[in-house]
Amino acid sequence: MTAPLPPLAGKLAALRSSAIRDLLKLTARAEVISLAGGLPDAELMPRERLAVAADNALRRAGVLQYTESPGWAPLRAVLAERESARLGRTVEVAEVFVTHGSQQALSLLAEVLLDPGALVVVEDPAYVGALQVFRAAGARIVAVPLDAEGMRVDVLKELLARGERPAFVHTVSNFHNPGGVTQSAARRRELAELAAAYGFWVIEDDPYGELWFDRPAPAPVATYAPNVIRLSSASKIISPTLRVGWMVAPDPVCRAVELLKQGADLCGSAFTQQIATELLADETWLNGHVDTVRNAYGERAKALVHALRTTFGDRLRCTDATGGMFVWADFTDGTDTDLLLPRALAAGVAYVPGSAFAVDGGYENSMRLCFTTSDAATLATAVDRLAGAAG
Ligand code: PMP
Repeated sequence: MTAPLPPLAGKLAALRSSAIRDLLKLTARAEVISLAGGLPDAELMPRERLAVAADNALRRAGVLQYTESPGWAPLRAVLAERESARLGRTVEVAEVFVTHGSQQALSLLAEVLLDPGALVVVEDPAYVGALQVFRAAGARIVAVPLDAEGMRVDVLKELLARGERPAFVHTVSNFHNPGGVTQSAARRRELAELAAAYGFWVIEDDPYGELWFDRPAPAPVATYAPNVIRLSSASKIISPTLRVGWMVAPDPVCRAVELLKQGADLCGSAFTQQIATELLADETWLNGHVDTVRNAYGERAKALVHALRTTFGDRLRCTDATGGMFVWADFTDGTDTDLLLPRALAAGVAYVPGSAFAVDGGYENSMRLCFTTSDAATLATAVDRLAGAAG
C-alpha cells in the first residue's frame, strides 16, 4: 500500500538547508584547496595528550555511567575557575553549565528564552548555526550589520528607539564567524548598557576568544552586565570531537536549561567531559598547546591576507585577521561571488559566498575564507587560483 507520508511540523518551513554543508560536499575533491570548510586543523589537535587523558578517564569510577545534566562536577569547577579569570570576578560552579558543544547551548537557550514570534537580533552577516536554531524556534529575526568594530550598536539603538523589544541579542564578539571582526571595548560596554536599560538578554557566543594572534580581545560583554549569557567551547582550542561547550549564566537560566537538557539528551558524556577536565586543568600544557595553535593560525592568516592584498590590490577589501579562523573579503568591482564559485571550483579553490551568511539578502560581492587547514604556500596557490577564476 502506498500512502503519502504524514506531514512534518509547519514551523520547519522557515528552515533552509545549510549552503555551507551543501557546498562542502562539492569541495571533497582532493585537488580542490578548500577555504570553505570552517574546520579547525585536526593536525594541530593534541592526539597523544588526549589518548593519555582518555586512558586515565577509563580507569576512573563513574566514567561509563550517566553524569549530572549540568555537567561532571569537577569539569564545572575547572570551568568556573577559568571563567573567573576571564570575567574578573568569582564565577560560582552553579553558574556554569556544560553543553554538547556551544551549539547545544544556543539550541536550549532558544527554547528557554523565546516564545513563538519573539524578536531575536543577530549580526549580519550571521553565524548560520545560530540562525538555523532561532528560525526553528519560530523567532522573528532582525539583523544588525557588522563593521570593523563589530556589531553596529547604533543601529540596535535605533531599533530599540522604534519600539522593538528583543528577547535577546546574539553576538559573536571575538573574531567573528563569518565576519572576521572583533567588537571594540566601547561597543561592548554600550551593548551591555542597552541590555540593562531595556531588559533584554545578550548571548555572547565566544568559541574563538582564545585564538588571538597579536593581542587578546577586549574583556567580554559579560563583564559589563549580569544579563549577558556567555558561551564558550573546547572545540577550537582542543577538539570538536569532545562536544564540550559551556555556558555561564544566572541561576534561573541554568535551571531552565537543565530541565530542557534532560529532555534533549539526559546528560553529556562523562567520558569526554573527564578527558576535557584533565586537559583544561593542566594549565601549563594547555597554554603551550593554545600558543602552538595561535602561532600556526596567525602565520596562515597573515599569509592569506598578504596574498589577497598583493594579488587583488584595490579590487578586494579584506579583514586583518587578528584571530579566529576566518577572513571576510569584499570585491569592490562588483564581482558576484555566487557566480564566481563554479569557476573557482573548476580552478581548484573553494570558499563560501557571502550570500550564505546574509540574513535578508545581500553580500553578493563577499566571501568567507577559512585559513586554518592550509599552510602558507597552499594559501598563496589558492589565491592565485582565485585570481585566475576571477579574471
Ligand atoms: N558559535 C559559533 C560562532 C561557531 O562558529 C561555532 C562553530 N562553528 C559554534 C558556536 C558551535 O561550536 P561547538 O558546538 O563545536 O562548540
